[in-house]
Amino acid sequence: MSSFFITCAIDYANGDPHLGHALEKIGADAIARAHRQLGDDVWFLIGMDEHGQKVAQTAEAAGVAPQQFVDGVAERFTAMWATLGISHDQFMRTSHAAHHAAVTALLERIFAETPDAFYERSYTGEYCVGCESFKQAADLHEGRCALHPTRTLEAVTERNWFFRLSAYTERLKAHFAAHPEFLQPAHRRNEILSLLEQGLEDISASRARIAWGVPFPRPISTGETQTTYVWFDALPNYWTAQFFPGSRAPWPASVHVVGKDITRFHTVIWPAMLMAAGLPLPAQVWAHGFITLGGERFSKSAGVKLELSEAIARLGPDAFRYYLLRDIPFDGDGAFSWERFEAVYTAELANGLGNLASRTTAMVEKYCDGVVPAGARTAEDAADLADYAEARAALDGSNGYPLHEALAAIVRTIGRANQAIQDAKPWVLAKDPANRPELERVLASLVRQLARQAVYLAPFMPGKAEALWTALGGPGTAAATAFATADALDCTGWRVTKGEGLFPRPEPTTAP
Ligand SMILES: [Zn+2]
Repeated sequence: MSSFFITCAIDYANGDPHLGHALEKIGADAIARAHRQLGDDVWFLIGMDEHGQKVAQTAEAAGVAPQQFVDGVAERFTAMWATLGISHDQFMRTSHAAHHAAVTALLERIFAETPDAFYERSYTGEYCVGCESFKQAADLHEGRCALHPTRTLEAVTERNWFFRLSAYTERLKAHFAAHPEFLQPAHRRNEILSLLEQGLEDISASRARIAWGVPFPRPISTGETQTTYVWFDALPNYWTAQFFPGSRAPWPASVHVVGKDITRFHTVIWPAMLMAAGLPLPAQVWAHGFITLGGERFSKSAGVKLELSEAIARLGPDAFRYYLLRDIPFDGDGAFSWERFEAVYTAELANGLGNLASRTTAMVEKYCDGVVPAGARTAEDAADLADYAEARAALDGSNGYPLHEALAAIVRTIGRANQAIQDAKPWVLAKDPANRPELERVLASLVRQLARQAVYLAPFMPGKAEALWTALGGPGTAAATAFATADALDCTGWRVTKGEGLFPRPEPTTAP
């Protein structure tokens, strides 16, 4: 059993979970669940990035202490992940004492392993007193803070610890050259390679004036203790997770699943920090794209909102998971649309899989008293196994994680099984006892097809896959059935039950 450690980016505790957060968790959850069924020893880490000035300010505006504020946010995120069936093994929070201690240990380790990695330097920047932070050119509007246009920016100088990122340019280039799989999908790699070609600049590792964070372990020369800069606090979460009580997180990570906007932090700054600390690098960073609504990216700052709870309630969490991973390519961008959601649900789940399951179980009940007959393997079995090989290749990491391709392969098996019913016409076969062997062969094949669909869909629709598995009379659970077991499955003697429809047709509605 090989170890598989998968992580999501920790979510910034400055607002409520939105569709962008959900897409990343659902995708990573499908990968984690698939690897359990591939036989790996999986550790799935998610969590919250709870420090930083914006969090402190939002808490202050709400009239509560930062810790109390982030406790409330963390509660809302964990409730959302429970609703969506996210199967994480650990939910880490950067405000936890174990994280503070481990970040301190990591920084000390860098001081010990690479004594010149950190140095002190004075930094002059445009400071907004309204934000209590330095503003970058991108944050400015007509030379003023975009959030505080009535204030004049002040040129402020402070001394900080800096990290000598520039010293890692060549080592990072060599790592990218030796490990083409390090950043996937491949089209993301060129952005980082051209960044490395330009050369890297040193980055701030500590900040004055910010109280809500991890104290930087060593004071600057004036004796002042500063706070660890946000990326030196947040990125190490993947490594500090192992020091939380009860954690079995290994190191290094197998894959960091992150949004395409933060690949630079995960494939440049984070590996440079690990190199400075003398620690192994994560095997892979997988960058998914963005999900948009009406062409605009979901995020708090963009102001584009879709109530997650409303989208989930419409057709249920499994249908929501399925739609996102089927329709939004996990290696690129895509758009959420209510029309597409309902169209995909109706065509592929209600009319496709749901119809296949209800027709098959009804026929096994009617013609075989509910007991699955024996039947030799068919051409459908062989064709399905070729599709499932493709699905596994989109899930096992050998080609990254194009989850939409895995679902496309599974959808083909559903179409094939429905076609097999149309071609074989079991209700005609049932009229003549001479056709009994052929009838049993067809029904046995259909149940095997459905059973494999339940097993391979379990990473995507954990609830519905179990309901299907139970209706077929499968042993144990779909989620506990290895993909390899599913491929060789014989369902003879299973007792089916024709229950409620798996995917009821949605009530007509006017899309919001
Ligand atoms: Zn401001």
